[in-house]
Formats: sequence, C-alpha cells, structure tokens
Amino acid sequence: MLSIQDYRLPEQLDEYRQALRRFVKEECDPLAQEIEETNALPPRLWDRFREAGLFRLTLPRQYGGIGLTAGQYGPLLEEIAHSHGTIRLFVHIWNWIGSGALMRYGTDEQRRAYLPAMVRGESTFAFALTEPDAGTGTDIRTSARRDGDVYYLTGNKHLVSCADHARAIQVIAYTDRAKGENGITMFVVEKSGPGVVMSAQPDGMGMRGSFHGAFRFEDAPVPAGNLLGEEGQGLQVALDILDTSRVFIGLSCVGLAQELLDRSVAHTWKRVTFGKPLAQRQAIQGMIANMATEIAAARALAMAVVARVDAGEQVRREASQVKLFGLQMVGRVADWALEIHGGIGYLKETAIERYYRDSRALWFEEGSPTIQRQVIARDVLAHGRQ
Ligand SMILES: Cc1cc2nc3c(=O)[nH]c(=O)nc-3n(C[C@H](O)[C@H](O)[C@H](O)COP(=O)(O)OP(=O)(O)OC[C@H]3O[C@@H](n4cnc5c(N)ncnc54)[C@H](O)[C@@H]3O)c2cc1C
Repeated sequence: MLSIQDYRLPEQLDEYRQALRRFVKEECDPLAQEIEETNALPPRLWDRFREAGLFRLTLPRQYGGIGLTAGQYGPLLEEIAHSHGTIRLFVHIWNWIGSGALMRYGTDEQRRAYLPAMVRGESTFAFALTEPDAGTGTDIRTSARRDGDVYYLTGNKHLVSCADHARAIQVIAYTDRAKGENGITMFVVEKSGPGVVMSAQPDGMGMRGSFHGAFRFEDAPVPAGNLLGEEGQGLQVALDILDTSRVFIGLSCVGLAQELLDRSVAHTWKRVTFGKPLAQRQAIQGMIANMATEIAAARALAMAVVARVDAGEQVRREASQVKLFGLQMVGRVADWALEIHGGIGYLKETAIERYYRDSRALWFEEGSPTIQRQVIARDVLAHGRQ
C-alpha cells in the first residue's frame, strides 16, 4: 500500500517512484473498467490518492505539501500517466494547473484560504480560459467592470476540467479591452457565488470520469481582493502556468505511450501466427523500434526543459516543442499499438482502445497542435536559433 508517510521526500524519491509504479498497476489499473462504466472515479480511489500523497506533491511544505520541484514531479507524473487518463488529469490539476498560479501569484491570504483544502484532497482550483463563442487568448469575450471594491464578471467559459471538484475557478477576463493583452486580468471566482452558473458538458471521446464544466457569469460580483496577480497581468499569469504545464502534458504523452509500448511488447511475445510469435517478425520489430525511439526522444526533450523550469528560465518555445512533439509521438505510438494488437486491440478488453481515445485529449489540453506551432514559429522567426 503506497503511503507518502513511509517516505522522506524528496530524499527517497526513487523509492517512491517505484512504489508509485506498483500502485498504478495494482490499485489503479484494476479500477479502470469501473471508471469507464460508471463515468466517475470510485470514492475509495480518492482515499487512496490522499494516502499516497498524490494531491500534494508540488504544494508548498508550509501548507502541508511535499514541495517537489518540476524535475522531481515530472517523472512521477509520467508514472501516473500509465494509468487511466482521468487519474493523470486529476493529479496534474491538483499539482500544477490548479495550484500553480496560486503558488506563484497568490497573496498569503488567498493561499491560506485555498491550499489546505487542496492538500487534503477536498477541493481544487479549476482553470477557465477557453470560451464557446471566441478564440483563446486576446480573442476572449469575458469581461469585468470595476465598481469600487468589486468587479462584476460577464461571459462564458467551457471545457473546464474538474469543475465539479473545484471550490473556486481561475477566470481570465478583460478588465480594459483598449489595452489589448495588458488589459486582461485573472480572477479567483467562488463557484457558489452569486451570478455564477455551472452546467455539465456532454461526455467526451475518452477521459471517462472527468467532468467538464461550462460556466456562465451573469454580472457576477468578485471582490477586488480576488485578483490573482495585478490588474492587467492576467495573460502573463495564465501563460506562465500554461508554458510550464505544457512540458508536463508532454511527459503525460510519454507515460501513456510507454504503457502502450509495454502492452505491445507483451502482446508480441504472446501472439503466435504462422508458427512464430509476432515479436520475431521484422515488420513488428520495426514498429517496436520506432515506438521506443520516439518515446525516448520525447522523454529526453521534456526532461531537459523541466530542468530549465527549475532554473527559473523562460521556456515558452521549448515547452511548446515538448508538447507538440509529445502529442504527435503519442498519436503515432497509439496507431502502432493498435496495429500490433490487430483486431482485438479494437475491443475494450485489451484497454488499447481506451488509451487510444484518452491519448487524443492530450492534443488539446493546454492548447491545440496549431497553437504550439504558432508559438514555436513566432519565436524561431523572431530569434532564430537562440
Ligand atoms: C480533455 C480536455 C481538457 C480541457 N481542460 C480545459 C480546462 O481545464 N480549462 C480550459 O480553459 N480549457 C480546457 N480545455 C480546452 C482546450 O484548452 C481547448 O479545446 C484548446 O485550447 C483548443 O481551443 P478551442 O477548443 O477553443 O479550439 P478552437 O479555437 O475552436 O480551434 C479549433 C481549431 O482551429 C485552430 N485555430 C483556432 N484559431 C486559429 C487561428 N487563429 N489560426 C489558425 N488556427 C486556428 C485550432 O488550433 C484548432 O485546431 C480542455 C480540452 C480538453 C479536450
């Protein structure tokens, strides 16, 4: 039984990682089918996550977290990504997307208000950027007007992951449209506050058990003390979190792809056609070699950038490269895994089809492939090799 209390972290991180690998195999994997059928994470799994320490890996020690760095957290997330996609999503929301802005830009008061409940795994902080009726970034339509010490928020957000487990949401909105990207502000909005209306979105292709919320803000009052960062700093706050998070989406692609490779290797030794296991066929070996090589390349690229995150460097171009290569890699690996498994890979019993569906979510989390290409190209065209 994995319990974070048994480890002195980060000193015993490698041992914790090995134990986490066993935890995924022995305790998470057997529940994958139940998650698919019930479209929810079983409550007993939540208890195990708390005990295992998965809700507080990167959260600050002063609030009861473990305080792991990006370089320490990355390999653990890769292990988690071997499990059901929703488990990986939840762990990452707690440890980065939900907590990152609060840790970097939040006031002491805001941290004291929200972090303890996150550490206990009771609630998280959802991240609301995407809009149903506008593009992402400076195209957003959600806006807020100030009246004294209160802002009034109006607009729509959707595809907000983990909205059901969030006590509050981070909302990006224009406070002064005339200032362009310097007129965008990030707010902490209590989900139960007046003028905040949440609805559940239809089920997705994969990631069963993850809830995506749509929000309508109807002149919702938000106290001026609920800004994350300064007024006008919102896009910077959001991009800071997205830049670093994209590296972890890349590592999530690596974990999922490695799981597909592990399963494919096992299958090639088991499946015999024309008197030989598939593992002894050159065509199959070619696919295995491609999968292993692409996974190794994606992991190396991601870990090199993770080290730069810990050094406090700006990694916008590099993070998008990690995410772009990762999502393309996991797409190709998922195709090869399905091809290697043949017809039974298409059936639910092998789990290949589930990983295949879940891998597609990684294309969109933290921005589409096109957006990554735009970020990379803009930087390369302006600064060349660097
Ligand atoms: C599993 C999952 C979890 C998510 N979680 C969250 C979350 O927690 N919070 C959140 O805010 N969002 C979340 N999203 C939304 C996700 O970030 C967006 O779907 C993604 O950024 C793409 O934005 P969009 O859906 O608005 O696509 P669109 O903007 O409609 O784009 C559609 C396509 O057109 C391309 N495109 C758009 N504009 C341009 C342009 N100007 N030039 C060229 N091409 C363009 C895009 O690259 C894309 O390929 C989640 C999505 C998924 C699938």
